[in-house]
Amino acid sequence: MTTDFPAGTILGYPRIGPRRELKKAVEAFWSGTLSGAELEQTAADLRRATRERLADLGLGRDDSSIPDDFSYYDQVLDAAVAVGAIPTRFADLAEPGGDLPLEAYFAIARGSVEDAPLEMTKWFDSNYHYLVPEIDEATSFRADAARLVRRVQEAAADGFTVRPVLVGPVTLLAELRAAGAEWVQLDEPALVSETLEATPEELADAARTAYVELGRLTERPAILVAAPYGSLDAALPALATAPIEAIALDLVRGRVPGGLDAPVQRGLADKVLVGGVIDGRNVWRADLESAFERLESLRRLTRMVAVATSTSLLHVPHRAADETHLPAGLVEQLAFADEKVKEVEVLARGVRVSREAIAAELAVATDAVLARRRLPGVRVDAVRERTAALREADFVRPPTAEREEAQEDLALPPLPTTTIGSFPQTADLRRARARLSRGELTEADYDQAMREEIARVIRLQEELGLDVLVHGEPERNDMVQYFAEHLDGFAVTQGGWVQSYGSRCTRPSILWGDVSRPAPITVDWAAYAQSLTAKPVKGMLTGPVTILAWSFVRDDQSLGETADQVALALRDEIADLEAAGIRIVQVDEPALRELLPLKRRDQPGYLEWSVDAFRLATAGAGPRTQIHTHLCYSEFGAVIGAIGGLDADVTSIEAARSRMEVVADIAASGFARGIGPGVYDIHSPRVPSVEEVEGLLDTALAAIPPRQLWVNPDCGLKTRGYPETIESLRNIVAAAHAARDRVTAGV
Ligand code: GLN
Ligand code: ZN
Repeated sequence: MTTDFPAGTILGYPRIGPRRELKKAVEAFWSGTLSGAELEQTAADLRRATRERLADLGLGRDDSSIPDDFSYYDQVLDAAVAVGAIPTRFADLAEPGGDLPLEAYFAIARGSVEDAPLEMTKWFDSNYHYLVPEIDEATSFRADAARLVRRVQEAAADGFTVRPVLVGPVTLLAELRAAGAEWVQLDEPALVSETLEATPEELADAARTAYVELGRLTERPAILVAAPYGSLDAALPALATAPIEAIALDLVRGRVPGGLDAPVQRGLADKVLVGGVIDGRNVWRADLESAFERLESLRRLTRMVAVATSTSLLHVPHRAADETHLPAGLVEQLAFADEKVKEVEVLARGVRVSREAIAAELAVATDAVLARRRLPGVRVDAVRERTAALREADFVRPPTAEREEAQEDLALPPLPTTTIGSFPQTADLRRARARLSRGELTEADYDQAMREEIARVIRLQEELGLDVLVHGEPERNDMVQYFAEHLDGFAVTQGGWVQSYGSRCTRPSILWGDVSRPAPITVDWAAYAQSLTAKPVKGMLTGPVTILAWSFVRDDQSLGETADQVALALRDEIADLEAAGIRIVQVDEPALRELLPLKRRDQPGYLEWSVDAFRLATAGAGPRTQIHTHLCYSEFGAVIGAIGGLDADVTSIEAARSRMEVVADIAASGFARGIGPGVYDIHSPRVPSVEEVEGLLDTALAAIPPRQLWVNPDCGLKTRGYPETIESLRNIVAAAHAARDRVTAGV
């Protein structure tokens, strides 16, 4: 079985295509303008181009160093489908014996007219959303390797021996071996996390059982178990003593294991250790010198050392070299996927030959690290003086009672209705933005188009009978990028797209220097919206933690320091919104839970700086200003204390897809402020009926006192179309009114 492991590899590559080809094809298939066969062809072309590209960059064609990690939507969904774990409500779409039709595959991912999709979650501290398989008594497991096998064969026909990448242990190995796969990569990120439902010890036990079993198979490819996102800790002994051939360690987030006992030492000594020293999560050029040292220190454990990225590269864009509009000196500091493959290639040469063989490349990388410190804008005195002068009182809002009284004149009804901020981003809006950036539309014409849209959205909300209105965020391409474009210290890429789920992509900005706000950002839009209505309009800002989470952030100072700089910029913005007559300001922190460290030992420190940054941003607001926040997840548990600590007056949270599971946690925590658990799952094109929303509100009211309850969708509406949005909001308002009548009548 022991085929040599390649000296250098990556754990995965961006799947969307350099120009988002896959996203566009998948969406065309959904809208009916592309046939299934055409979609399959586009996907095959993209896979072929990726293999050729990776070979050009230095990975081997026939040594299993090129991963096959393609997915039409999500790798966890693929793993579920490959073992036959299809929810019964979709079973009728599956053809017995045959491949799962693409229509059925996408229905499980996105829902159909009748049926809700799988839940979605961010299991690790990244912005990638995984689908959550449903496994219960009705699940009948059945190995279905056909698609995987065809992809191994497709690559073989082009002369490639690829390494299929699968999530978790499966029974598909024999078929993959027969198709010619020499190595298989099993991704087991769960083994590094301490924040999942199963304990690290339970997960380690499961790994021991699974890999002893899989290792014993005789007809199988050699097995690489990859453990991205942190160090293996409890699971390392289980993997070390299992009969597998290689382990990939994340040596960016995790450490080189030390202090091991004899059986673990022995177990590791006959395995390939793949050192993930090139950061798969961030975009900075690597300090190759220190990366090479970490690889060398693996030699204490085994003679067989290889190099890889710390995670799949799906978290970074395709190529930095394509960026032509970055501030001077910055592009030389960046490494996107392709540049990282190159870094892997250099280190692999060092591992295979010697340090001397790559001495020149190491020296160039070291010079680059030094040059970054000297870039103008990386350290700005005025910004540093302001953060150094912060006092305890800068983080504290007036007492709750004073705020409640001062906000009474907002005159909100019980169970107030609102939305999370964005309204659908129509093709017209996107076109206007594209024309502005091509210079085909003047700033003034663009502003006019946005104002018209705001007026439309305000009228629509009044017609629908919502209580707290929003301006709809038409001017924002993206809730983080928009602020990045208006703050100093950020750079925005032209083509730096990254998949967040399915066909959705984001273009994270790069936070590279000290942050400050040269001028007000949102004030004119909010004030204009407020001038059109007597109802309160919520000002809408993105919070400091989320701005960090969804950007690529400098790694030369602590995240807490960077967060405080961003918080001060937002604090100034809130003061300007107040001065312009805005009474409610929402500071979105959808990523607060996402950034929660996977290791318990790292969590208290994180919660401290993240909560502090939010408080620093909002504590300058007077008692009359109602501060809202919005959180985009339903696993409330681990951060519930922190959410109280934010001290917002109202918190909206995702809850519809998990059918209000979250309200029990909220009630149990004694949370005493306004709370809006979402009643409309905006990740799916489905329209919730009035009865369905009433049902959710009843569930919420069983746990939460009516005076605390707000009614809102799960999240912003920007990804939805207008027809379904209007219908859904109409149903929500009707359900809220019915519940309100019952509450005020005391039943
Ligand atoms: N205000 C943002 C919007 O509605 C919030 C989005 C989010 O939480 N991801 O789009
Ligand atoms: Zn949200």
